[in-house]
Amino acid sequence: MGLIFDHVALGQRVLFGSGKAAANLAAEVARLSAQRVMVIASDSATPLARAVAAEIEVAVWHHDVVMHVPIEVAEKARAAAAEAGIDLLVCVGGGSTTGLAKAIALTSRLPIIAVPTTYAGSEATNVWGLTEASRKTTGVDDAVLPVTVIYDASLTLSLPVEMSVASGLNGMAHCIDSMWAPRADPINAALGAEGIRALSRGLPLINEDPAGAEGREQALYGAYLSAVAFASAGSGLHHKICHVLGGTFNLPHAQTHATVLPYVLAFNAPSAPEAEARIASAFGTADALTGLQELRKRLDAPKALSDYGFTADWIAEAVEVVLPAVPVNNPHPVTIENLTRLLQAALTGEDPRVLLDF
Ligand code: NAD
Repeated sequence: MGLIFDHVALGQRVLFGSGKAAANLAAEVARLSAQRVMVIASDSATPLARAVAAEIEVAVWHHDVVMHVPIEVAEKARAAAAEAGIDLLVCVGGGSTTGLAKAIALTSRLPIIAVPTTYAGSEATNVWGLTEASRKTTGVDDAVLPVTVIYDASLTLSLPVEMSVASGLNGMAHCIDSMWAPRADPINAALGAEGIRALSRGLPLINEDPAGAEGREQALYGAYLSAVAFASAGSGLHHKICHVLGGTFNLPHAQTHATVLPYVLAFNAPSAPEAEARIASAFGTADALTGLQELRKRLDAPKALSDYGFTADWIAEAVEVVLPAVPVNNPHPVTIENLTRLLQAALTGEDPRVLLDF
């Protein structure tokens, strides 16, 4: 069969450079002719954000950031932006902070400059998320895609190694899941493969030398590629499972992705030989699962969902909610029985190889 695909590339500017965030932000604010800037940063990220915003005039500082963007938190931030006549949003922080900026942009259509401090990748997607009455809804709207992303690895030096590993494996999950997600195509696959290479080089360096620049830079570069691949390919089986575990059972985002990933890879790999070979080649190992597991071992990565509060009693409900959301093009047919087995294995941290050819 010929090479036939339909790929959409999202337009945004990416400025990458350690120690350059403040200068890059000032140049972007000037380029966009912004007059009334709102900077969003959690209390703990405020010292970092103040340094990043040192060369611009800030009209409003907003610190009320909450994971998964509860609607009340979004409404307050929207009102603050409207009241102050804001014309540009700047967010400095992880996915939760970027998520709040997106919630404001969703209704106000204000442009965003994102300055990420984790490897979650939200800054490179047009996906928003909001939580109302403990239900997380997500949607796609190009208005929430930051116009500019400013990457500065020095801002991630304070991210503890454990969180860096979990967040980096969240990026790895974007890369791997995009190989079989609904809109998987050769461009996403190429970006995902380069993302795997960068993350598998960067994360062990962070583990060995958390204060070193090289690992942090590679991880950020990989995180960006992973998010571009994910934004284009959409949510595959892995993201559908993690969305439910986070949204319905309130499990922590990055750690849940880091834990579930080898189980989805073991589950899908035998039915997706081309993706499997591409992932293996990016890891430089004989097979994809070995590559991921060797990396996870080196990083002492999260192993069992039980460590994050998930219990066997919730598996049936999780299966019920995930099953209807499973993409029809998932390489391996998903049933109540095999999805239950996948979650049982992830719950206790069993060897994912039990799922090969299950
Ligand atoms: P997060 O933003 O909640 O940050 C995790 C923790 O790390 C927080 O306590 C934060 O204060 C701390 N932190 C962040 N940067 C730090 C730094 N440089 N130094 C020290 N501490 C730091 O978590 P996250 O994993 O970055 O993002 C998760 C959220 O992002 C979830 O709500 C998820 O749904 C969302 N997300 C959305 C998309 C999308 O495309 N819309 C993609 C990925 C993640």
